[in-house]
Amino acid sequence: MKKELILVGPPASGKGTQTSRLAKETNLPHVDTGSLIRAAMKSGSEAGNIAKGYVEKGELVPVEIVARIIKERLQENDCNNGFILDGFPRSVEQAHILDDILKEIDGDSGVKPKVVYFEIPIDNLIERIVNRRSCPKCGAIFNVKTMSIKKEGYCDFCEAELVTRADDTQEVAEARFNTYFTQTAPLIDFYDKRGELVKIDATGSIDEVYGKLQEAVK
Ligand code: AMP
Repeated sequence: MKKELILVGPPASGKGTQTSRLAKETNLPHVDTGSLIRAAMKSGSEAGNIAKGYVEKGELVPVEIVARIIKERLQENDCNNGFILDGFPRSVEQAHILDDILKEIDGDSGVKPKVVYFEIPIDNLIERIVNRRSCPKCGAIFNVKTMSIKKEGYCDFCEAELVTRADDTQEVAEARFNTYFTQTAPLIDFYDKRGELVKIDATGSIDEVYGKLQEAVK
C-alpha cells in the first residue's frame, strides 16, 4: 500500500534530519519544499526568481508557485510507492491544495496520508538556526555549537565545505517563526480534527526522536 507521510513542525524542529534518516530506511523519497525552492532559485528560473524575495524575508512563497513545484515532484515515478513530505503544506490553504493534488494522483485508491507533528518548545530554536550549517553535497545538517565535527567547516560524511543558508540569520529566523505561528500552526488543529494527526515529542536526542518517529509512522 502506498505510504504518504506529512511532517509538520516549527523551523529547526529536526524534521529535516529525521526525514532524511526515515527516507533512507523506508526507501521513500524525501520531498522537501525548502530544498526544491532553493534549487529553483539557484537555477535562475522565473519561479525561482520570484521565490527568492519571499525566502529572503522569511515569508511563504506564493501558493501557486509552491503548488506547481510540489505537484510536479509528487508525480515523478519515485513517488509511486509513497513519499515523505517535509515543509508542505505550510498553511490551511496549502492543505486543501494538497488534498486536491492527492485526489488527482491517487484517485479512489483509499490511500490516507498520516501527518506527524513535531512538538517542541521554541525557546532554543532560533539559536539552533543560527548555528546550523549544511552540506551542499549530501544535505547533512550540523550544529557548530552542540556537535563535534571531525574537521571544522567540512562535512563528516562527504568532506564538502559546509554552508550557512542565506535565510539562517537571526533576523530572517525571527520572521520565519512569525510566519510559522500565524500561517502554519493552524494546520495542527486542522489535521487533528480530521483524525489524521500523530504528535511526537521532538525534544531529546536525534536517536530518541527517531525512535518515536518510527513508532508514529508504523
Ligand atoms: P525550509 O527549508 O523548509 O525552512 O524553507 C525555507 C523557505 O522556503 C521558507 O522560509 C519559505 O520562504 C519557503 N518555503 C518552503 N516551503 C514552503 C511552502 N510550503 N510554502 C511557501 N513557502 C515555502
